[in-house]
Parts: sequence; structure tokens; C-alpha cells
Amino acid sequence: MEILVLNCGSSSVKFALWSAEPLRRLRWGIVERIGLANSRLLVNDAGGEGSNEAVDCSDHRRAVELVLAGIAGRRNHDAGAIAAVGHRVVHGGERFARSARIDEQLLREVERCSELAPLHNPPNLAGIRAARELLPRAVQVAVFDTAFHQSMPPEAYRYPLPAGWYEKYAIRRYGFHGTSHLYVAHRAAALLDRPLEQLRLVTLHIGNGASAAAVAGGKSIDTSMGFTPLEGLVMGTRCGWIDAAVPLWVMRKEGLDAARLDTILNRESGLLGLTGRFSDRREIVQAAAAGDERCQLALAVECRSLRKVIGAYAALMGGLDAVIFTAGVGENSPEIRAGALRQLDFLGIRLDGERNRQAVGGAHELCISSPGSRVQVWVVPTDEERVIAEDTLAQVTGRFDRAGFRYSFSR
Ligand code: ADP
Repeated sequence: MEILVLNCGSSSVKFALWSAEPLRRLRWGIVERIGLANSRLLVNDAGGEGSNEAVDCSDHRRAVELVLAGIAGRRNHDAGAIAAVGHRVVHGGERFARSARIDEQLLREVERCSELAPLHNPPNLAGIRAARELLPRAVQVAVFDTAFHQSMPPEAYRYPLPAGWYEKYAIRRYGFHGTSHLYVAHRAAALLDRPLEQLRLVTLHIGNGASAAAVAGGKSIDTSMGFTPLEGLVMGTRCGWIDAAVPLWVMRKEGLDAARLDTILNRESGLLGLTGRFSDRREIVQAAAAGDERCQLALAVECRSLRKVIGAYAALMGGLDAVIFTAGVGENSPEIRAGALRQLDFLGIRLDGERNRQAVGGAHELCISSPGSRVQVWVVPTDEERVIAEDTLAQVTGRFDRAGFRYSFSR
């Protein structure tokens, strides 16, 4: 039995084929530039073989066809072996606190959530429709980015705005990257060799987009992204937390419309805005080391936002057992990790400089706190696809609690 995991974005489809028992990644890759010139299909396999070819790909249905062709490759692959397809779905609104089998009703509800995630949910839905058509016998499962954060209490998710906005438009904090926060929290419990139910964790997913979560007793009780992924930490090109009056002020001053402002806050702000040049942390770290003052400031602003969120979440949880770094920056940048943890000795955090420097490349889980540190700090490479595969398999077998299924989405 095999499980196919699909992550459909607006112009790409990432995929991974897993054998079910034991769960093992067999083939994975991406269809790039869907609906654009020079589309490509890249495939890797566990045996170390790879391919990279030019393809014609006008839409998501064609992309899923290409995925199936890529999986088959030169082998005699039987598409009938794919028992289930797990789909990443970005926004599940307030309706989905766990993964679910896809049926007509679920599709209608995800469609309704498209208004909340107009860039993400429509391609997710296109992928689901294509997979249902092309693999009609496979069980289809949706795994939501927002689901893990549905455990937040109202005082975490409600904004101090007119109550009618929540009632009419469901304007509230949802949070994103939930699958990643869930995965690293479960790994942290295994690495600390303590029950997740007893742990207070701050998980930091820092990539181009970045979010933090306070995970107490295995549940997300607060997170930094909000109604949209624009809120919270300083990101590559997104502003994160700012005074809401600032965009209104600039709008009036420069006569900008909402669409232009949306672009500025999402694509021209954050580290790119501060440096005027870079959103890639590698370039910023390098330029800062070479004396570029804008890049030095940008790093200081980013690290300060991380430090603030760690302190705030420790306060919310009444203490802290571990801090977990993940995603592109979290797994690779000793400088940003050190900056995020600076002066946090009072919380019981002591970084081991040498271990921190060694934790690059994202290949291993590594403890980077010193042996005497009361709070452990870990770098844990994220694996959202594995969670999607496990949750999907659990839906097929109906076995949600046997060893190996560590995730709570499906329960
Ligand atoms: P996305 O949010 O697009 O999934 P990723 O999780 O892949 O992002 O993270 C991308 C970020 O990771 C980029 O800003 C990149 O600079 C950063 N990154 C990757 N390797 C390093 C490194 N060695 N040092 C610093 N930053 C790195």
C-alpha cells in the first residue's frame, strides 16, 4: 500500500510517494511553473536517482498527471497501489481541528474558507479535484495548516476589534504552519524523553515566512500568525507586528489603494524592507558581517522579535521546558538562533556556542543548549509531509493509536 502526499501551491505542486508499512519516502519532487513558460518536473527517489525535465503544464490537473507519470518513471508502477492521497490544505477556518476524509461536504466547506485564504485554498482545491478524478479509488484526506492551532482559547484568538467582525466575518487569529509546529513538538517530547502532556514548549518555524507557537501539554495555546500569515514575527518580506495605524497613515499620505498596500506589507516589507536589498538570511548575515549597517539592523530587529515572543510565551505558559528551532533559517542559521536566545539566561536558557555552530544543513536533530541549561534548546528539521502521510494512513486503516502514529490530528 502506498500513500501520495500533495502540496499544491498557485504555481507548483510538491509531491511525495510513501510506502505505508513501515512509512518510508519512496519518491518525491515538484512540478514547477504551472501555467507559465518553461514548466519543469523534478523527481528524486530513495535510491538516489533523479530526473529534471521540461514539461508542458497548463493547470493543476495536468500537474497531477505529471506527478503520477513522474512517480512511475521507467518503473512499472501500478497507480492502483496508491491507497490514499493526503492533501495539504492551508485554511480550514474554525471548522477543522483535525485532518478529515474528503467528501462533497468537506469540499464545500474548504471552498467557503477560500475567502480567508484566496491565494492558497483555490490551488489546494484544484489539486484535490484532479486527484479525485485521476485516482478515483484512492481515499482522499485533507490535512490543514490551521488545525493544530484550533486548540487556542478565545482569549488567544479573539482580536480587540468590534465583536460583529468576528460574528459576521470570522475575523480572528487562526495561525499557520500548524503541521510543522505539531511535528516538532512531538519530536521534542521524544528527544527530551518526556510525555508531551507535561511539556511547555516554544516552537519557532523560521523560513521566509515565520511563526512561533506556545505549545503547552501538546496543545497550541497561542501563535504569532493571525487572521493571515502577515502577522507576528519579522519575516523575509512580510512586516509582522506593526501599529495598524501605519498603513492607514501611508495610504492617505501617498494615495495608495488597498491592493498596493497589500503588496507592500506582504512582499516589500520585513527584512527586504529594512535592508532594501535582501530577504534571504544568508545574504543578510554575510553583508552584516561585512559591515553593512542596514543588514545589521535588520538582523537585530528579527532577533529581537524572536526574543520577545519566547519571553511572552514563557509567561503565558508559566514556565518553559524547551525551545525548538525549525525550517530554513531555524535549521541553518547559528547567528539568528544565538541572537534569538541572547540574554535569556534568566529563563534558564544557556546556549552551547559550539553545538549551535554545528547545527546546519537540516540533516539531523541536535541539542544546542549546554548540558547545564535548565531549558533545552533543539534544532529539529521539520517534516510536514510525514505528518500528512501518517494522518492519511490513519484515515485509511482506521488505526489512530497504534505505535507509529504519534500525531493527534486524526483522533
Ligand atoms: P519557506 O518559508 O519559503 O518554506 P524555508 O523554510 O525554505 O522557507 O526557508 C528559507 C529561508 O531559509 C531563506 O531566507 C534562507 O536564507 C534561509 N536559509 C537557508 N539556509 C541558510 C543558512 N545557511 N543560513 C541562513 N539562512 C539560511
